[in-house]
Amino acid sequence: MSNKTRQTQGLLVVLSAPSGCGKTSVVERLLIRHQDWMRSVSTTTRSPRLGEENGTHYHFISKESFELEKGRDTFLEWAEIYGQYYGTPRQHVIDAVDSGKVMILTIDVQGTKQIKESWGTERPMISVFLLPPSVKALRERLTNRNTETPEEIERRIMIAQDEIKAATLYEKTVINQNLDQAVLEVESIILNELKKRSEK
Ligand code: 5GP
Repeated sequence: MSNKTRQTQGLLVVLSAPSGCGKTSVVERLLIRHQDWMRSVSTTTRSPRLGEENGTHYHFISKESFELEKGRDTFLEWAEIYGQYYGTPRQHVIDAVDSGKVMILTIDVQGTKQIKESWGTERPMISVFLLPPSVKALRERLTNRNTETPEEIERRIMIAQDEIKAATLYEKTVINQNLDQAVLEVESIILNELKKRSEK
């Protein structure tokens, strides 16, 4: 690899966690601490929640449009979750990493598996799984968040229990017992990875 390529290469960070485990809060804090780091805005067919804006939290589109984009190979990865489609726009992520940015994706386990298969070794990546301290704590967080019905909460907990088993797929795991501590741990994983790459 030439020096020029080495200097301009960024890092893809894949961050997953069961729903309600705090990954949005972790990423928000990381982006405040590192204003040159970026978060990919996914495309989804689910409806916006209160306070969510199109283009900021997600690109909200219809199932028909999603199918069309999927056929055009627009997505780096995509998954059907809770009956809705979610996908990561491919070009934006690649452009960011190629221009030297840290690009964070908050996606599920199915998406991570696809990225691990297709990303290759040309561009650096690291995957991190955020774990809840316990299933009890996860239920409390989902309940306090007040954005899902009780049935939806139970469904998300069942899915979470399956997802937690997939944590071994990730290079690093962090327990979100305390948000500040979890932010520092994820930050240090990213900084170490950048340092390691710059020394190669
Ligand atoms: P929510 O509907 O709560 O925003 O997200 C539900 C789940 O979808 C979360 O686990 C979130 O990380 C995941 N997700 C969001 N965007 C994407 C995406 O582009 N691809 C995949 N595979 N998962 C996503």
